[in-house]
Amino acid sequence: MADPDRVAVVTGASSGIGEATARGLVGAGFSVVLGARRQDRLMAVAQELGGRGLPLDVRDRASIQAFVDAVAAEYGQVEILVNNAGLAAGLAPLADGSDDDWVQMMETNVLGLLRMTKAMLPLLRRAPRAHIVNLGSVAGFEVYNGGVGYTASKHAVRAITRTLRLELMGEPIRVTEIEPGMVETEFSLVRFKGDRERAAAVYQGMQPLTGTDVADCIVWVVTRPPNVNVDELVLRPIAQASTRDVARRS
Ligand code: NAP
Repeated sequence: MADPDRVAVVTGASSGIGEATARGLVGAGFSVVLGARRQDRLMAVAQELGGRGLPLDVRDRASIQAFVDAVAAEYGQVEILVNNAGLAAGLAPLADGSDDDWVQMMETNVLGLLRMTKAMLPLLRRAPRAHIVNLGSVAGFEVYNGGVGYTASKHAVRAITRTLRLELMGEPIRVTEIEPGMVETEFSLVRFKGDRERAAAVYQGMQPLTGTDVADCIVWVVTRPPNVNVDELVLRPIAQASTRDVARRS
């Protein structure tokens, strides 16, 4: 049974890790608010989970404000913010990189996360205790060919998370970064702009993580006793030793 006083907000909850996280948080007793751009997908997930779906484009300041205003009016306070909305666009070397792809990744993964966190902080501060969970990546501390825009954005998420932990020290707000390796979601389909064959090849001959594997870790992190802050949690498929090293069955 969802507790109306324990509210969790998940951005990018229309698919993948965000959807699985919203499901996991409902299972842990939280009332969930889900945000994303694709309203048909978002509302289907929200309805299935008995949560609240609200339109959210983290690249758009007015959309963030409208989302936060609606959450404030309906719930008054928020205990958990999962900054999950994010994407990779393209896999070109820097010399051939697309400016539009870089802008999209920086605006979504970096500015979107910064702005969303700033707008949500007053609601998090109204809760007796709160928790901010940022979706980083192993790309936040490793690099790979063609990943320059994405790795730069996830390195930024790591810096933001660490800065926030310093700045919120002394307040009852925990700050965690989740850093997954390869997870099979719509991530590669988005990266390769709908090219299903190219997206499928990413996971060929190996077993990637699922959104649920990552969601399990997020639920575990937020359900630790309130004095315990898990700073970072790195998880990868057993077949992946680094962003560049993956064992594949032939
Ligand atoms: P996904 O299935 O493509 O999900 C991405 C989610 O982000 C979707 O719900 C999408 O919803 C939302 N989103 C994208 N742009 C948005 C925007 N401007 N405003 C609001 N929502 C937006 O991919 P995923 O793998 O679950 O990715 C979730 C997070 O995990 C990302 O931050 C990603 O970088 C990170 N991550 C993924 C992997 C991996 O291998 N899959 C590994 C490490 C980290 P709409 O399109 O409906 O807006």
